Amino acid sequence: MFSIGNVAFHPKRKRPIFTHISELPTLASYASFAAHTRGRRHPEPAAPTRDDFQRDRDRIVHCTAFRRLVYKTQVFLNHEGDLFRTRMTHSLEVAQLGRSLARALHLNEDLVETIALAHDLGHTPFGHAGQDVLHECMQAFGGFEHNLQSLRVVDHLEERYPDFDGLNLTFESREGILKHCSVTDAALLESEEHRYGDGEGGVGARFLHRTQPSLEAQLCDLADQIAYNAHDIDDGVRSGLLTVEQMRQVPLFAMHHDVAIRSSPHLAQASQQRRSVYEAIRRMLSEQVYDVIRTVSADLASSGVRTPAEVRAHPRLVNFSPEMRELTKDTKRFLFANLYRHPQIMASRETAKQMLRDLFQAYSTQPQEMQSGYAQKATRGTESDSYGCEPSLHRVVADYVSGMTDRFAASEHRRLFSGAG
Ligand code: MG
Repeated sequence: MFSIGNVAFHPKRKRPIFTHISELPTLASYASFAAHTRGRRHPEPAAPTRDDFQRDRDRIVHCTAFRRLVYKTQVFLNHEGDLFRTRMTHSLEVAQLGRSLARALHLNEDLVETIALAHDLGHTPFGHAGQDVLHECMQAFGGFEHNLQSLRVVDHLEERYPDFDGLNLTFESREGILKHCSVTDAALLESEEHRYGDGEGGVGARFLHRTQPSLEAQLCDLADQIAYNAHDIDDGVRSGLLTVEQMRQVPLFAMHHDVAIRSSPHLAQASQQRRSVYEAIRRMLSEQVYDVIRTVSADLASSGVRTPAEVRAHPRLVNFSPEMRELTKDTKRFLFANLYRHPQIMASRETAKQMLRDLFQAYSTQPQEMQSGYAQKATRGTESDSYGCEPSLHRVVADYVSGMTDRFAASEHRRLFSGAG
């Protein structure tokens, strides 16, 4: 696809294609056009007022798994404070950054927003501690991986439509949601994947063929990193686990903190410390966004790609500049050593891990303790693991536990292990 003025052209078709009117003036030819989606697993008539990606976004916002993100841990456990990021606020921040980047690069904002809002739907309660435990409990039954689980939520676990499970999202949204996937999982997924009728395989195929996803999906990946590096600094300082002095060991933060204080000297006062951190983070965010826009614009121009198909066949096109990549790596290394591995965070992780291990064990031996739909699925389940409709007992338990909010997991643990509800 390429466009001239307001008219889009497909290289193999003689006549111009009139895409959805809101897409025409702004999208580049290598952007994903809703009018050219590879479609849904279950065909549906078009909506009168929204294109397919806008419709996908709205389906995410209305689904149950999305609402649960409010009560799921990002880094700090949900009960540790009202102002820390949760999976919900993280997803909204990724969507905001993603939309800004997409608009500047003439990519599809609606698709970016859909992927951003859905990218963490498969996260367990208690953050990465939960993912580690479920993976350990599922070791003999195909493992557990949160990216694959996000796809599983939108493909199978949401029950909202009369004739199919899941949200029946378009290929492009599903492709973006499945950010990482092992070759083994990709092969299993592909064996059960819907055939899109164009012979190009499903969302697992790119991990087998080592190709790239759409630019919108690549953009979300980077927006995710920009968002968590910034908000984890904010939450780390707010919690008192990180000090501003410590943060100043991180070059990316220190350089923007210096600029903030140079341009507003009163921010150097002790009483203005929070404001100085916000201002440094705001400048860091902007700098990373501008860096991505500059780098991607230049790389797209020199790559010569013109269509989404060429994007997928080309090495990754959405990257930081080499200098910014080093700065963000330093930031990640610092956060890993000083925040994610902080003794206080590690202690709450251990408590959370034991809680989920206990729950997994309890439901595996007494499936009737799960809510009725899951209890029924568990008794129907086979022992061979399957991504699709007949999951094993253990897969049903993993689905159930991973869908819990932090506080539901804690209350279930009290109910089952200390006799209180
Ligand atoms: Mg994320």
